[in-house]
Amino acid sequence: MKLEFSAADEAFREEVRSFLAVKLTPEMREAACRTTTVFADKDLAMRWQHILVEKGWAVPAWPREYGGTDWTPTQKYIFGEQCAKARAPGLIPLGLRMLAPVLFRYGTDEQKRHYLPRMLSGEHYWCQGYSEPGSGSDLSSLKTNAVRDGDDYVVNGTKIWTTHAHFADHIFCLVRTDAGAKPQAGITFLLIPMNTPGIKVEPIITLAGDHEVNQVFFDDVRVPQANRVGPENEGWTVAKYLLEFERGGGGASPRLKVELDELKAIARRETDADGVLLEDPGFGKRIAELEIRTRALEFAELVGLARLSRGESPGPGSSLAKNTSVDIEQSINTLKLEAIQHYGLPHANFISLNGHNERWVGPAYAETVTARYLNSRAASVFGGSKEVQKNIIAKAVLGL
Ligand SMILES: Cc1cc2nc3c(=O)[nH]c(=O)nc-3n(C[C@H](O)[C@H](O)[C@H](O)COP(=O)(O)OP(=O)(O)OC[C@H]3O[C@@H](n4cnc5c(N)ncnc54)[C@H](O)[C@@H]3O)c2cc1C
Repeated sequence: MKLEFSAADEAFREEVRSFLAVKLTPEMREAACRTTTVFADKDLAMRWQHILVEKGWAVPAWPREYGGTDWTPTQKYIFGEQCAKARAPGLIPLGLRMLAPVLFRYGTDEQKRHYLPRMLSGEHYWCQGYSEPGSGSDLSSLKTNAVRDGDDYVVNGTKIWTTHAHFADHIFCLVRTDAGAKPQAGITFLLIPMNTPGIKVEPIITLAGDHEVNQVFFDDVRVPQANRVGPENEGWTVAKYLLEFERGGGGASPRLKVELDELKAIARRETDADGVLLEDPGFGKRIAELEIRTRALEFAELVGLARLSRGESPGPGSSLAKNTSVDIEQSINTLKLEAIQHYGLPHANFISLNGHNERWVGPAYAETVTARYLNSRAASVFGGSKEVQKNIIAKAVLGL
């Protein structure tokens, strides 16, 4: 199959490339390259967001009147590809790519007017309050409850694994408003400012040593009913719609191609008993397999982009894309760790963390490998675990 871009698309690619060459400073690129967590550091992501907002390129998928670009699927693909190649920081998707589509479909005009511009300007920074202790895969069993009291709901309970809750000033939350109904039927979707009295955030430090996730506690938290998205007790429909964007709203293949290039650069420098690692047939075969799978994913993602541009949601195919991209990413990180061998140990033993060493022990390319390897293990759990995605694929894609 031959994929050719039109002259107009090539001109657009050049426009994006020139923009990145000017606006993405070496310092921002370096910081993005050193990111080992799922999301970029908040300050870095917000600096980049402001630059893209100024250019009008921050939210290509939004309707034009709210700041969208009206790009074709090919242009969106080219933009993502060039950003990945240039190592631009990722924008934080929690508001821009997850809550925003929900507000476009289910929000009131007032909610759209209030929240969307503030999301874009960075005045509001969102986190996602879905999971609870005991309610992750079986999300509809969630117990955080909201009881009506005058014009408010009073919310009590706890959310867990809440990414960036320690940075966020708003949380979108699933709460139980009817304990007597079937689990899915008694859920409501609320928007809650994090400075509301009664909210407490506690850190959870991960295997990689990062503070990225938290537990959030709600103790008699008053939330105006005007902050509800969609009707009371119909939040499950809203919640599921958002999950489609969490799992499939963006393309992973351009980033994976960059990571494959990094892997090959490492394998070119490292050796095994027989010589240069990249020339080892066994190691080379494993890289080739990942390149082929990445190419297949790229085409699946282009089909997904075409669906979005027709106004359709990503659909259950996003589960397939999520499992595939996570699997490839984890395999790349495994090969990188195998390639750097003993240079992976300083991080694993926490020797390199918290400035205990004056400088990194080993080649610069080895510095982030172990942290990325450990952090990427979480990708087969968040956004719905691998097994849960397989259940969705079995039912909704294969019709089993
Ligand atoms: C780094 C990270 C960031 C996260 N960020 C957020 C966030 O910002 N907001 C948020 O709300 N949540 C977040 N999560 C939570 C995430 O969505 C849940 O961890 C996930 O849904 C799994 O739920 P659980 O942890 O309760 O595991 P469980 O649901 O208890 O699953 C345990 C194991 O059982 C398997 N399993 C469960 N049910 C089935 C089944 N029906 N069939 C087959 N196997 C099954 C699972 O695959 C898994 O291996 C995050 C998680 C991580 C790791």
